[in-house]
Amino acid sequence: MPEKNKLYEAEITGITSEGSGVCRIDGMAVFVPETAVGDVLRVRIVKVLKSYAYGIIDELIKPSAHRTEQSCPAYHRCGGCVFRHMDYREECRVKEGIVRDAFERIGGLSPEYDDFIAAEIPERYRNKAQYPLAVHDGRAVCGFFAPRSHRVIPIDDCPLQPELFSRIVRHILAYINNSGLTVYDEATGKGLLRHIYLRRGNYSGEVMVCIVAAGDCSRQLSGLCSELVQDFPEIRSIVLNINPERTNVILGSRCVTLWGSDTIKDIMCGNTIEISPLSFYQVNTVQAERLYGRAAEYAALSGGETIADLYCGAGTIGLSMARSAGRLIGVEIIPDAVRNAIENAQASGITNAQFRCGDAGKVFEQLRREGCEPDVIVLDPPRKGCSEETLKAVVSAAPERIVMISCNPSTAARDAAFLGTLGYKTERISGADLFPRTRHVECVVLMSREK
Ligand code: SAH
Repeated sequence: MPEKNKLYEAEITGITSEGSGVCRIDGMAVFVPETAVGDVLRVRIVKVLKSYAYGIIDELIKPSAHRTEQSCPAYHRCGGCVFRHMDYREECRVKEGIVRDAFERIGGLSPEYDDFIAAEIPERYRNKAQYPLAVHDGRAVCGFFAPRSHRVIPIDDCPLQPELFSRIVRHILAYINNSGLTVYDEATGKGLLRHIYLRRGNYSGEVMVCIVAAGDCSRQLSGLCSELVQDFPEIRSIVLNINPERTNVILGSRCVTLWGSDTIKDIMCGNTIEISPLSFYQVNTVQAERLYGRAAEYAALSGGETIADLYCGAGTIGLSMARSAGRLIGVEIIPDAVRNAIENAQASGITNAQFRCGDAGKVFEQLRREGCEPDVIVLDPPRKGCSEETLKAVVSAAPERIVMISCNPSTAARDAAFLGTLGYKTERISGADLFPRTRHVECVVLMSREK
C-alpha cells in the first residue's frame, strides 16, 4: 500500500470521469489531477483510503505526448478546466471513453456507438456565466469558486467565456468599488450583491445582465444601468434577481427588470428562442444544435408522429423537431421556461406544439389519462436523471422510440438499464462535447421498444 507523504514513480494509464489521471502504486489505484495518459511522474501521496489513494505531481519525469501548453493563469486554482493541459483530440478520446464506460459498467449495455460530436472551437463557447462576488482586501472581486469550496478565485478573463463578458464584469466591479454598494458575505448573511450573471445569444449577440442581490436595490443600481447601456450596445436587458435566502443556490425566484426587455432572444436550430433569467438554456449553442441534430436522427420522424419532450426547458429540442412531426407536447417544471417555450413556438410559426408546466412524470400521467399516446418520447433530465415513476409512466405509453439526452452518462446509463427491464433496448449512443476543457460530457441515447 502506498504511504502518505511518500514519493513514488508511476505512469498514468487512464483518466477518471472526474478528470483525474490514474496510476497504480503498490497495487493500489492512485488518482492524480492535472495529468495525462502517458505521463511518467514522481507522485506524492496526499491521502490513502481503503481501496484507492490521492496523489499530486511532485515531478513530471517524462511528459505525455498529449500534453499541451495551457495559457490560463487561473488554471491550477480554478479547477474548472480539468483537461486544459491536454490536446483537445485526447480530451475527446477520454470523454468518449467516459460515456462508453458508464453504459458498459453501470448500465451493463452494449449498444452501437456513433461518432463522438467534438467541438470545432473548444474556447469562448459559453453563452452564460455566473460569477460569485467577494471582498478581497477591501475591494469587490469576482471569479469562480475554488474546487469543493466557496472561496472565490478572482478571474480577469475566463477563456471559456466571451471576452465581452470580462469587459462587462470589469465595468460592474469598478462601479461597485466606487459606490457604497456592499457585497454579500455567505458566512454572516450580511451585505447585498451576490452574483453577476451574464447571458448572450450566440447568434443574436443580445446580452442580458443580471445582478443577483440579497435584497431589492433597484434604485442603487440605476447609475450602473445607465453606464452599462451606454458602454455596451449589445445589452438588451438588465435584471435584478432577488435572493434573500441563506443558500448556495444562485438565483432567487423574483426578478425585477431594471432596464430594457425582460428576456433576450437567440436563434437555435433555426427557431427563435426567448430566454428568461430563470430558464434553462444550453450554454454551448453550436454544440447543442449538433447534439439536437443527432437526437432528431435518432427520433427518425416521418411527419405524422406525436412527440413528447419531457424536461423541455424553453422548448428547444421539441421545437427543433416539431416541423417533422404531427404534434409536440412539452413538459417542464419552471413556469418562466414554459412561458418562453409557448412564445418560442409562436415566434417560430410552429402551430402544432403545446406545453404544460409541472413534474415530468406527474404531468405525463395526466396526459396519458387524457389519451395522449406519443410515438417518440424525448427525455432530457437534469444531472440526477429520471425517477423510476417517470420512466414507468413513459413506458406505459408504449412509444416506438425513446431518445434520452443527458449531461450525466452515469445516471443516463442507470436509466437506460432500467428502461431495458421494461422492454426498451438501448440501440445507439453518441457522446457530445458541450463543455470543452471541463470534466462534463453529454450523450444522446436511442432506445426502441422490443417487439
Ligand atoms: N431540454 C431543455 C432543458 C434541459 S435541462 C434544453 O435542452 O434546453 C433540464 C430541464 O428539466 C430544466 O429546464 C429543468 O427546469 C427541468 N426539470 C427539472 N426537474 C424537472 C421535473 N421534475 N419535471 C419537469 N422538468 C424538470
